[in-house]
Amino acid sequence: MECGKNIVILGTGGTIAGVAEDAGASVGYKPAQLGIAQLLQAVPDLQRLAGAALQAEQLAQLDSKDMDHATWRLLAQRCAELLARENVGAIVITHGTDTLEETAWFLQCVLAPAKPVVLTCAMRPASAVSADGPGNLRDAVACAAHDRAAGRGVLAVMQGQVFAARQVSKTHPYRVDAFDGGEAGPLGWIEEGRVRWAAAAAQQAAQSLPPATALPEAEHWPQVELLSSHAGCSTAVALAQVQALCAAGVRGLVVAGTGNGTTHKALDVALDHAQAQGLAVRRTTRCARGRVVQAQGADDSRVSALPAVKARISLMLELMGWPRTDR
Ligand code: ASP
Repeated sequence: MECGKNIVILGTGGTIAGVAEDAGASVGYKPAQLGIAQLLQAVPDLQRLAGAALQAEQLAQLDSKDMDHATWRLLAQRCAELLARENVGAIVITHGTDTLEETAWFLQCVLAPAKPVVLTCAMRPASAVSADGPGNLRDAVACAAHDRAAGRGVLAVMQGQVFAARQVSKTHPYRVDAFDGGEAGPLGWIEEGRVRWAAAAAQQAAQSLPPATALPEAEHWPQVELLSSHAGCSTAVALAQVQALCAAGVRGLVVAGTGNGTTHKALDVALDHAQAQGLAVRRTTRCARGRVVQAQGADDSRVSALPAVKARISLMLELMGWPRTDR
């Protein structure tokens, strides 16, 4: 059940690399303190589990709440280089939990990798008595090495579960089982180092994507921002917001609407203004599950099937020439 080729582990920081002064503390620690080599040392049987040579690289060292487009570009380009190598079978990325779902979706849209790319994380710092990082890293490597992991795109592994990049989201701010796969649930489970898939990998439609090297320098990425609709919206405030966003050079807006993607009438005025100014607008729902459902026969191209944070990434890439990925 092993891929036999090198597995490259890229460290980017997060709580998995975090340290607290008190081993009993699960908050109030410093994330992104330990290097990737130290994280690997905490899992003595990682090499055996991989069934292949492990290679580690420190790609970044940040708290993922501060994730930025320059780091995404670096990550996508390094992954593309590694995946193109005959002797690399899979990539594992250690990441903070806060924006893991965004990085996973970004990499899926840019790379749509045939080989496994697996993100993992931790909710407890490495110094905690209840540290979950070593187990998650172990599971991520087992998943990456599995001969049926390929063809499933970018994956996220935590708490013994495997999720697809499109579905994974962080749903709890504190608990160790902080992630889920929404209505789709997990793609599989990892138990005692063994992977159990819920179903065979679906046939992937052939995709023609620009190479990751086509990503411009981060300062040239179109800025896409998020707005949400809520009770008590004010037309004056929403208009001022949109005018300020236009003045700041924002190119797109994603609106997390109420329920089935609806927006407060006060916000509609501002959205019409945004569109008249040439901003690309996408509408999605702030509901945690499901997607906006259009009326029979309707096909509003502004409707996105993704949660707002992922719709933002899809729109940004679309504005840079990538195919649309949010329907
Ligand atoms: N703030 C941390 C991060 O996202 C939280 C975590 O990793 O759990 O990097």
